[in-house]
Amino acid sequence: MKCKLCDERKAAIKRPKNGHAVCKECFFYVFEEEVHHTIVSNNLFKPGEKVAIGASGGKDSTVLAHVLTTLNKRYDYGLDLFLLSVDEGITGYRDDSLKTVELNKEYYQLPLLVISYEEIYGWTMDEIVKLVGLNNNCTFCGVFRRQALDRGAYKLGVDKITTGHNADDIAETVLMNILRGDFFRLSKCHKIITGEDDTMPRCKPLKYCYEKEIVMYAHLKKLDYFSTECSYAPQAYRGYVRELLKNMEKIRPSSIVDIIHSAEKMELDSDVKIPPKLSCTKCGFISSNKVCKACVLLDGLNKGRPKIAIGKKAIIAYEEDNKNQDEEVKEPEETKEAEETSGEISKSF
Ligand code: SF4
Ligand code: ZN
Repeated sequence: MKCKLCDERKAAIKRPKNGHAVCKECFFYVFEEEVHHTIVSNNLFKPGEKVAIGASGGKDSTVLAHVLTTLNKRYDYGLDLFLLSVDEGITGYRDDSLKTVELNKEYYQLPLLVISYEEIYGWTMDEIVKLVGLNNNCTFCGVFRRQALDRGAYKLGVDKITTGHNADDIAETVLMNILRGDFFRLSKCHKIITGEDDTMPRCKPLKYCYEKEIVMYAHLKKLDYFSTECSYAPQAYRGYVRELLKNMEKIRPSSIVDIIHSAEKMELDSDVKIPPKLSCTKCGFISSNKVCKACVLLDGLNKGRPKIAIGKKAIIAYEEDNKNQDEEVKEPEETKEAEETSGEISKSF
C-alpha cells in the first residue's frame, strides 16, 4: 500500500491518531508540523525567548527536546533552549534516566541544569518513602517537583518552561477531575499555557500528540530514552482512568482529543472558589496560602509528622505549630490537598 500523504513511498505505519497509512518520512514530517501548528496557533513562544525543556529522560521529554530543536532551526523561532532536570533521588530510576538526559545534552548541544530534592529540601524521595510509605509519596513528589522546576528555571534565567505532557496525559487528568468533581482544576488542566499571570509560565507543545505516536516517533527516530516506570508509582486512581481511556481509544481513537476539546469548551461557574495567588511567607514561591504546600510538607517531614502535613487541615496544624516562632502568620485559609499544583498533571514532565 502506498503512503496516503506522498502517494509515492510504501506505507510503513498506521497512524494511531487517525488510522492513515503513511511512510516513515511523511509520519516524521506531519508529526513535527502538527507540533509546529500547535506552537504557532497558540503563540507559545516569542523570538529571543529563553526556554527550559523539562527533561526527565523519558519518551515525552526526549521527543519534545528533539522536535523543539528541529523546529527551532527549521522555522527560525529564535529560541535559546535549555534542558532542566529534577533529581528526586530515586535509586534505580532517576539516576538512570538522568544518564539519558546527559546523552541528550551532548547530542543536542544544549546546556543542562539538574536540580535535586536533596539540595533544595534536604530529603531524597528514597528517604521520604522510607518515612511515609507508598501511599502518599506522590503528593510529596508532585508538590516538590513543581517548585523545584520553578527554582531551576529561575536559576537558568529562562522566560518559560515547556513540559512533555501529551494528549493522553491531559485527557486522563480531565477525566480524573470530572470523576472527583474538582471544578477548579478541571478548568485549568487542559490549558496549553498555565501560570502566565505567575512569574514562570509553563506550556505543553505536545498537548495534542497521542502517546502512541510519541512512542512511534521516538522508536523510528532511534532516540535515546528511558522507559522504566518509577518504582514508587502506585497512582492507583490514575491507573484506572488510564485503562478506561485506553479502552475507549481502542473503540474510538478520537476519544482522547475529544475529551480535551470538551474540557476546552467548559466554562467555570462563577460560584467555584478560585484560590488566591500569594507568595509563600517562608520560601517566597507561589502559593494559595500564606505558607506554600511545599513548606508545609517539608515541615511535616522535618518534624517526623509527614501524615499531618498531607491532610486537609495541614495548613492549620502548621500554623498552630509555628505560632510562637512566627507571629506574622495569622488566620489560615481552607486549602485543598496539593493545591499548589494548580491543576497541573502530576507526572515527571
Ligand atoms: Fe514521584 Fe512520579 Fe515516582 Fe510518584 S511516580 S514518586 S510522582 S516520580
Ligand atoms: Zn514555601
